[in-house]
Amino acid sequence: MKLNAAFETALNAQINAELAASHTYLGMAAYFDAIDLPGFASWFRAQSQEETDHAMRLYDFVVKRGGKITLTGLKEPLQSFADPLDAITSALAMEQSVTAQIHALFELSQEHKEYSAQSLLTWFLDEQTEEEDSFQNIVALTKAAKGDSWNLRLLDKDLAGRSAA
Ligand code: MG
Repeated sequence: MKLNAAFETALNAQINAELAASHTYLGMAAYFDAIDLPGFASWFRAQSQEETDHAMRLYDFVVKRGGKITLTGLKEPLQSFADPLDAITSALAMEQSVTAQIHALFELSQEHKEYSAQSLLTWFLDEQTEEEDSFQNIVALTKAAKGDSWNLRLLDKDLAGRSAA
């Protein structure tokens, strides 16, 4: 079955949104490296890698369905923030908007009867629940550090353990 044109456009928009998220997280990694919090930096670097993987899951689906990939340019990401909490709360806000985008894609798949996309999109819905939960946890931990340099360094050590899933 030919991929619906409007749905193909929406999938391409999501591929580009995931790549933009990857670039945004790499900018955050650079910020944390610049302020000497290498654990936060490596956490965001792993997150950046995950976003590229998300883009490629959608990319593979479009290709398998005989659709066309349309890549756009990437905007320069923010690489400076007021403080660590500012960076992490903006990351959480971005994940919440990605969740809304995935919901809209799911609705569009119903509208155009693109049912073969739904198992993939269900995976993304589950993934967004995980993403929002993990960012909420880091927001809470960073808030608990209250901007104290030693507390942030302890948290940094915890976050250093994460590698790309
Ligand atoms: Mg993503």
